Amino acid sequence: MSDSPRLVCASANPDKVAEMALVLDGIVELLPRPHALADVVEDAGDLEGNARLKAVAVSAAAGAAAVSDDTGLEVDALDGEPGVRSARYAGEGASYADNVDKLLSELARVGAGTPEARTARFRTVVMVVWPDGSELSAQGSVEGWIAEQPEGTGGFGYDSVFVPTEGDGRSFAEMGDEKHAISHRGRALRSLAEALSARACESQGA
Ligand code: IMP
Repeated sequence: MSDSPRLVCASANPDKVAEMALVLDGIVELLPRPHALADVVEDAGDLEGNARLKAVAVSAAAGAAAVSDDTGLEVDALDGEPGVRSARYAGEGASYADNVDKLLSELARVGAGTPEARTARFRTVVMVVWPDGSELSAQGSVEGWIAEQPEGTGGFGYDSVFVPTEGDGRSFAEMGDEKHAISHRGRALRSLAEALSARACESQGA
């Protein structure tokens, strides 16, 4: 039997769930979100608050510890927008393509034409909430810039227009699974895994 912690995945976004499963493979046993649970309204105003709303709701519904992810893309020339509104930047029910189009047109509107003028970062907060209300969280971020046009077919969301500074000029959508080594989500989840393991050692008195 595995000693890995078992956590219910609080994300309803299949693209995120796939990345979480890949990064946490062999570290955490990720259980599916209860199907009947409606989407959680993410109105906390910041990433940590939204991560908590999702993990608390799913933990209560499942009666087990749940792990959530909330992510935002912060673009400097747009004063940190879309940030916490990244999923609905182009409006309620916006598709990934709608949001990317809106981002590119906003950057054109403010005259941000060079990579130096288009700096941005992804920021992720991940959080585990247990049924007794206790919680553990971790963060991860990655710096980069927004490309002038979408490049690549992998990934999801804004990946086709985000070029990480630590990379070789490819967008996240062109990097395949290499993305996870430097991504906001990869970093946040590996940091969470360390915190979970430290917590397990403490509770065993090791
Ligand atoms: P939320 O964390 O569910 O609020 O989602 C934020 C939005 O940011 C998603 O709908 C995606 O459009 C985008 N997003 C989240 N994570 C990533 C990522 O790793 N790459 C690209 N876009 C992302």
